[in-house]
This record gives sequence, structure tokens and C-alpha cells, in this order.
Amino acid sequence: MITDVHTHIPSHQKKVPDSEIRFDESMQSGSQFKTKLTNSVDDYLSSMENVEFSFIFGIARKPWDAKSEILSAPGWDKKFNHNDIASIVSKLSPKKIVPFMSLHPMDQNLDYEYKRCLNELDIKGIKLGPNYQDFHPHSVEAMNLYSRLENDNVPIIFHQGTSPVTNAPLEYSHPRFIDKIATVFPNLKMILAHLGHPWQEYCMSVVRKHKNVYADLSAQFYRPWSFWQGMNLFSEWGVLDKVFFGSDWPVTTPQQTEEGINNLNLYAKQFNLPKIPDEDLKNILNRNAVKILDIKI
Ligand SMILES: [Zn+2]
Repeated sequence: MITDVHTHIPSHQKKVPDSEIRFDESMQSGSQFKTKLTNSVDDYLSSMENVEFSFIFGIARKPWDAKSEILSAPGWDKKFNHNDIASIVSKLSPKKIVPFMSLHPMDQNLDYEYKRCLNELDIKGIKLGPNYQDFHPHSVEAMNLYSRLENDNVPIIFHQGTSPVTNAPLEYSHPRFIDKIATVFPNLKMILAHLGHPWQEYCMSVVRKHKNVYADLSAQFYRPWSFWQGMNLFSEWGVLDKVFFGSDWPVTTPQQTEEGINNLNLYAKQFNLPKIPDEDLKNILNRNAVKILDIKI
């Protein structure tokens, strides 16, 4: 059964009022899909109906810019931050929904929030988006945070690769920076999101090289050539066994992503491209990231 390692917190706690419904056309550019940015907790739960585990997170804003939220959550009581929300949603199905925190390495409250997440909110991992959060992945503050995460056996999901958000330095989400982090912190478990698109070659090279570095294939299937190229690359180099399933909900649902994986070889056949071994695709659908990352729930 599916472990979805990449889902975002729902924007609203209750049903989304009609006047607040929002769509985004930039995230899935080039495809026929729009992203519904506004979703309730019930929408989240029904999208996750057929998965065994889902990892859920927000993205911590830049401490110097209160408006810098990515996939914001306007439909929640202001007393809750993104980490509270991940924890609240998880408590509705604690054996299935695994909450991740997000912190900013330069936040002055980092220590307090880190301890609160682990001790009070029962959070199991962390999501970092160096581009969205505008921190250099090798900054002293970030390296200190990785050291702590390695010590506490807290896995990281890194946003990697491009994004349509303008005020987010692309270079900071390049997978080449992960190589050094993994060298310095060899026991730190990391998932590089989106196969690092469009830098799948770098992503694969880093995943191949480091035992505890993995990738997720979220937000790929709706650009089938790019998806096929990335998967073929991972396949040729024998690294598909380190690819996790991810939907990037609400950008796509697990069901849509599963269909996208199942359609990959139809696409290959249509364009006379090498097949990605069915067995490897099946293994991605069944890969238990909770167990592999040693997450205790
Ligand atoms: Zn995402």
C-alpha cells in the first residue's frame, strides 16, 4: 500500500466558503491541470482514503517577511501555526497521518519551536524549502539545524528543483548542495522532492551516492516527458529503489499520481521509449517510507 511522503496542510479547517475558493495555474504549467489551493480537512482525509501513511507539513515563512507563506492556511484559527495544523490533522488518524514540522534556520524562536514540535506536537520529521524560505542550504544556521536533526533522528524532506514562485532563489533548491550536507551528516535521512526537477541528473547522482538520501516523484506525472526522463535515468543507474511515492497534495491527489505511474509505460510505448520495469513501479507504490526512515508511530 501507498505511503505518500509529500502532502501539504489543508488551507481550511472547515468547509471552504465559496467566496474563498482559489485556484493556481502556475504550479502545473504546461499541463491541462489547475491546482485548487483551498481545501478543507475533510477534503484532505478523503484524498488520503486509500493510502496507508501520509506525511503532512506546512512551510515555515521567512522570519523577516510575515507575508512569505507558501500554500498558506487562511481558513484556520490564527492561534495555530503550520506545525499545530499538521499535528491537529494527524491526530484525526494518528496511525496513518504523520506530521512533519517546518522551521526557518534563522528564526530566533527555533529552539523553542523545535522542542515544542518534538515534545508536545509529536512531530516526526521536518520539511525545508531553502528556495521558498530564502536560506542558503550550507549556511551556518542551516548546518547547525541538520546536526541537531541527525542527532535526534529526524528525517528531512527538502523541496528541490524549480518552482514558479518569484521571490524564492532557485539556486538554493539545487540538489548539488545536498551532496555536501550528506557527506557531513551521513546518518541524516533526507528526501529530495520532485526528483529535483528539472535537475533530475543531479538529484539521481546525490541519491545514488549517499545511503540515507532518497527522492520522491511528486508533481511529475503531468509532464510525462520530464517524468519519463527522470525515471529512466534513475532506472539506468539502478537507483529506483530509493524513490518514494509522493502526491504533493493539493497539487495532485495520490490517486492521480498512482494513475500517472501506471500510465508511464503507455507513454513510453507510444513514443518508442524504453520501458521502466513494471516491478520497479510496483515497488514504488508499495514502498514503506515510515519503516525505511525509521519513524516511530
Ligand atoms: Zn510540495
